[in-house]
Amino acid sequence: MPRLEEYISIVGLSIIDDLKLLSEKLKGKVIQNINSTSVGGGVAEILNRMVPLLRELNIDAKWEVIKGGEDFFEVTKRFHNALHGREEEITPKDFDIFMEVSQRNIEDMKLYGDIIFVHDPQPIALVKNKSRIPDSKWIWRCHIDVSNPNMRVWNFLKEFIVQYEASVFSSPSFAQRLPIRQFLISPSIDPLSDKNKELPDNIIHSVLKKYGITKDKPIITQVSRFDYLKDPLGVIEAYRRVKKYIDCQLVLAGGTATDDPQSEEVLNKVKEKAGKDKDIHILLIPPKSDMDINALQRAATVIVQKSIKEGFGLTVTEALWKAKPVVASAVGGIPLQIKHKYSGLLCHSIDGAAFAIKQLLNSPSYAKKLGENGREHIRQNFLLTRHIRDYMLLFLSMYHNEDIVYL
Ligand code: UDP
Repeated sequence: MPRLEEYISIVGLSIIDDLKLLSEKLKGKVIQNINSTSVGGGVAEILNRMVPLLRELNIDAKWEVIKGGEDFFEVTKRFHNALHGREEEITPKDFDIFMEVSQRNIEDMKLYGDIIFVHDPQPIALVKNKSRIPDSKWIWRCHIDVSNPNMRVWNFLKEFIVQYEASVFSSPSFAQRLPIRQFLISPSIDPLSDKNKELPDNIIHSVLKKYGITKDKPIITQVSRFDYLKDPLGVIEAYRRVKKYIDCQLVLAGGTATDDPQSEEVLNKVKEKAGKDKDIHILLIPPKSDMDINALQRAATVIVQKSIKEGFGLTVTEALWKAKPVVASAVGGIPLQIKHKYSGLLCHSIDGAAFAIKQLLNSPSYAKKLGENGREHIRQNFLLTRHIRDYMLLFLSMYHNEDIVYL
């Protein structure tokens, strides 16, 4: 894991000094993070990278994981989908399973933090134990897009949320009406992780070779799960409209089925639509291929994220950090990252995407400028160090008057 000082060359000394100053004010406080898995998924990834840095800052950050069997996680997965607004049948038995397992965790989990930082819905019911440690401050961190949740699931969770001191959401559009304090803290990427660190050209070339891609024509790339909401079919359509004028190739890179039964169907539709076009590369990327993703993003001439709906859109963050010109839909957290015509191009349709891609391919210096601005915007706002700073301010605000601290 990188040490704090390794970030100085990226974000500057003053940012790291600020972190040290803030951390002194939290001296002696134990921050107990609780989530549902230590590996896989964005929450675990962030905690994995953040907890060691907090500890290096002399903050006593701990991390516990609740226990649950397959049936519990099957239920929480459906809660997750329902919170995202997807049609899901949730039965009374599902709520019973959730409560049974939560009760076991309530009995088993040792709670000792000054601040108990609970991530996502799976461990949310632990707050029932709040009175056992009277001075503790409880924060619920929602990493999910709950802008349009299934109300049955949301109302069920709300019974617990209101018992927390504060809640944290990733984007203004995800916030909900709640009688407790709400903080908006966007996610971040780690510039020193395998997915984002600088890569030498020979590694990029070997990854391209592995996937059978050559750099003889411009590469348009979208990295995304094969999901209709990421609109891979629309990307192919946009590419075709560009290809009429500029000879180019398309890379659609994404993971296989995993927990989404529909991804197989989407992948087949994508293959069917691509037909025999040798310039369309549909790449199935195995999980944990961070360096491959990094290389594919770095090899791209233009990166596209033509989502119909989006959470924060970390692929856009990753692409901008690599100073790539990006064309992306104005949905979810993407407009927080791309200021149109300054740090990328926003689009609202297939035609719009095709027009923007053409514009970038035809004007390399404009594309370069957008990419550079994008990288700077990410440096200022969406790197791990800013995330740590926001969390420390959040923790401190638990000990101050409600009116004083706004993030
Ligand atoms: N990703 C990956 N492999 C894939 C497709 C995506 O590692 O085959 C990564 C991608 O680099 C990004 C994350 O998964 O870090 C996707 O996050 P995003 O917010 O863009 O979309 P989500 O999949 O959460 O809707």
